[in-house]
Amino acid sequence: MLDYVGLEADLDEEERLIRDTAREFVEEQVNPDIGEHFENGTFPEELITEMGELGFYAPNLDGYGLPGVSETAYGLLMQELEAGDSGIRSMASVQGALVMYPIHAYGSDEQKERWLADLGTGEKVGCFGLTEPEHGSNPSAMETRAEKDGDEYVLSGSKTWITNSPIADVAVVWARDTSAEDSPVRGFLVETDRDGVSTNKIDEKLSMRASVTGEIGLSNVRVPESAVLPGVSGMKGPLSCLTQARYGITWGAIGAARDCFETARDYATDREQFGKPIGGFQLQQGKLAEMATQITTAQLLSHRLADLKERGDLRPQQVSMAKYNNVSMARDQARVAREMLGGNGITLDYSPMRHLANMETVYTYEGTHDIHSLILGHDLTGIPAFE
Ligand SMILES: Cc1cc2nc3c(=O)[nH]c(=O)nc-3n(C[C@H](O)[C@H](O)[C@H](O)COP(=O)(O)OP(=O)(O)OC[C@H]3O[C@@H](n4cnc5c(N)ncnc54)[C@H](O)[C@@H]3O)c2cc1C
Repeated sequence: MLDYVGLEADLDEEERLIRDTAREFVEEQVNPDIGEHFENGTFPEELITEMGELGFYAPNLDGYGLPGVSETAYGLLMQELEAGDSGIRSMASVQGALVMYPIHAYGSDEQKERWLADLGTGEKVGCFGLTEPEHGSNPSAMETRAEKDGDEYVLSGSKTWITNSPIADVAVVWARDTSAEDSPVRGFLVETDRDGVSTNKIDEKLSMRASVTGEIGLSNVRVPESAVLPGVSGMKGPLSCLTQARYGITWGAIGAARDCFETARDYATDREQFGKPIGGFQLQQGKLAEMATQITTAQLLSHRLADLKERGDLRPQQVSMAKYNNVSMARDQARVAREMLGGNGITLDYSPMRHLANMETVYTYEGTHDIHSLILGHDLTGIPAFE
């Protein structure tokens, strides 16, 4: 596997073990059927508990049976899962970084006891409801409301584009608490079998097909006061979760790009035209050289983020830069890999076109490429240009 500047040498034993476990899981459990799942628009649900047993959900957290592995190990895990498919990595990202992380960081002891172990094993599935039909890039304008009524809250509103909502047991729903001064955004743990909750599936996606995406309808849903995440108030809640998930995405995108590179290199050394392998022509070598260089540059960026995160110095803007660069890189290089495979490249027999289609979602969710550009622009100039 491509490791042009020898980053492997700096990994410790646990990091190698986690990477190798994930790589083997992808080779044996994901790759054989992922094309079929992508074609059918289904997620391999039988893998949910298997991924839990292998410790793929939030292993970088500790306590409640979670091992607290290094941020590099967590990143390598995301990289290997997305080398299989972005849908598999999305499952682990949402469950770990967007559901378990907020419960771990902001939940009450009771919430942690109730949910963390079951989410960690995959016995329960979670989802993260922030985006609304009218508010995507600007979630602070959300319309979902939580109104206090005695010792309960009544939630109403709708969320859309929610990964896993149709198969989730619990949703982390972000809503404005209209009973508090200035209606701050609060996080609510909402079981999806409560009266008034609906989770319709969104069909006919042309990207991220091996992942379940849906809506969350909330029609006067009553939850106890104990469903509020007590430790956070305001947009810091959802945004801090997104920083965790985006960190994993910076690694995941490298996995998808690396799989495209490996597929294109294998193909180029095997496929013959004009009497020799196409990899013997300068044009194709130039493409492979560019791919390897771009992937290596992205690897260096994510490895550096891991070091910063490990020592508590990572800034969200630095994560934005890596999401901005690495996902755009993977999107571009998947297209080049696809083109190197000629006609075969447009089939499900090879991974690049599937990764390419997936990258359209990864480029858009967790802050679009444009929004990360604006975050960086703000950080570099001190002048916000969002509005
Ligand atoms: C498959 C999939 C899974 C998802 N999973 C989840 C999930 O689990 N939970 C969740 O909450 N959300 C999820 N999302 C939603 C995702 O985060 C949003 O789609 C994303 O934030 C963009 O919002 P939008 O689609 O409303 O686009 P919009 O915000 O309407 O943006 C449309 C275009 O306008 C551009 N734009 C917007 N504002 C500006 C500006 N100020 N300056 C310049 N350009 C701008 C954008 O970059 C984009 O190109 C998912 C999306 C997809 C496709």
